[in-house]
Amino acid sequence: MNPTQATLIDLRDAIAARSVSAVEAARAYLDRIEQYNGRLNAYHEVFAERALARAERVDAGEVGGELAGVPIAIKDVLCTEYGQTTCSSRMLAGYRSPFTATAVRRLEDAGAIILGKTVMDEFAMGSSCENSAVGPVLNPWDVTRVPGGSSGGSAAAMAADLCAGAIGTDTGGSIRQPAALCGVVGVKPTYGRISRYGLVAFASSLDQVGPFTHTVADAALLTKVMSGRDPKDSTSAHVDDAQDMADVDQPVDKPRIGIARQYMSDANDPAMNRAVQQALDIYRDAGAEIVDIDLPLTDYGIATYYIVAPAEASSNLARFDGVHYGHRAQQADDLIDLYARSRSEGFGDEVKRRIMLGTYVLSSGYYDAYYNRALKVRRLIKQEFDAAFERCDALLCPTTAGPAFRLGEKADDPLAMYLNDAYTVNANMAGIPGVSLPGGFADHDGHALPLGVQLIGPAFDEARLFRIARLFEKHTDHHTRRPPL
Ligand code: GLN
Repeated sequence: MNPTQATLIDLRDAIAARSVSAVEAARAYLDRIEQYNGRLNAYHEVFAERALARAERVDAGEVGGELAGVPIAIKDVLCTEYGQTTCSSRMLAGYRSPFTATAVRRLEDAGAIILGKTVMDEFAMGSSCENSAVGPVLNPWDVTRVPGGSSGGSAAAMAADLCAGAIGTDTGGSIRQPAALCGVVGVKPTYGRISRYGLVAFASSLDQVGPFTHTVADAALLTKVMSGRDPKDSTSAHVDDAQDMADVDQPVDKPRIGIARQYMSDANDPAMNRAVQQALDIYRDAGAEIVDIDLPLTDYGIATYYIVAPAEASSNLARFDGVHYGHRAQQADDLIDLYARSRSEGFGDEVKRRIMLGTYVLSSGYYDAYYNRALKVRRLIKQEFDAAFERCDALLCPTTAGPAFRLGEKADDPLAMYLNDAYTVNANMAGIPGVSLPGGFADHDGHALPLGVQLIGPAFDEARLFRIARLFEKHTDHHTRRPPL
């Protein structure tokens, strides 16, 4: 077996059966990173020695578990007590965390091997990885295009087989959108499913950790391993799942698939709408009931998200002032000047834009007009989904309007960039899970570019959502195709 060409579960099983050693697997991935990372800039830091040392311990039987020996990439927004945690920002260049995020710890407790930290949009703000202070990530399917963001390094690493599984975070689409643009599976679990302890906060009421993989079964396993109540995150939920979410091959009895015309805009790439239509046909042929759902509030998602998320960001990022945390300016006249200079030097343009937006919508006089109003719309969006899930088990829609765009194409137009998240932000606003699946390809200038179809389900119903996702995957082979590296 070539460890870098296997699915995560197959590799895990091969290591357990000792037909491949954990050291061989780690070496194979490290070699591939060596070969391709220079071209893609997916990893910011690679823990080669640490990974090999842990792999030896797996082979010696000292480290075991459900993921024993499986090499995983981690978005650089999750704290690790080894290596750096920089959020791809100058502000945190060289920062070493004294602790490890719970999600990462759970992976390691299950025997996973952390290969390194992946490049992202600075502080997870962006949809292209062009907001990274350590250079953009390139899309493995066409290196003139973006991988999506903000977890673009994890998505690109997964697509290029520079890891067996990757971890990202999703506040408004940052797992699902890059998964779609890179042709891999990406999951944003229910808010509260996975602990946020050790995740550098962007918008705390929206942030969730989740996996990138090639298959639904692999994603379900990683989600399951990271899930569960954590006393260190008061928003992590106590859930006793009736069903095992990793058991994705369980049949789903006559699933009801909802389709909303609001997601099937004429402005979408025609190939995207065809991909959703084909997915719908697959479900129909598999015995699903197709239900028309009306989601008129879809159009309000972006406007609402870009009030709520920056508001929370402006508060969360206040700690980076050069004194408590982060880059400190060399020279300053007084304390206020030190804050101003440190923050001006440490943050990039998009982060500054969000802090200004957030500060504005929270300022007295505007708080009610913007922030409170946005919270009300957010509640209505949640209620609209609640009503939809009375009538269907999952909503099927595009993850994005089209495939990966070119580097630089939207970099100077924040609004065009924000519109990338039109189909993903509302799941975050409602706190419900969403999965992006490889759904087909669009041909652009001789390049096959991946398209993602999305399934959105009710809160804490990942078990059924994964089974419905698996049903689609079983009837397609998009997930088996690899970029021409
Ligand atoms: N692209 C969105 C933003 O820039 C979502 C980011 C995310 O999910 N972290 O806010």
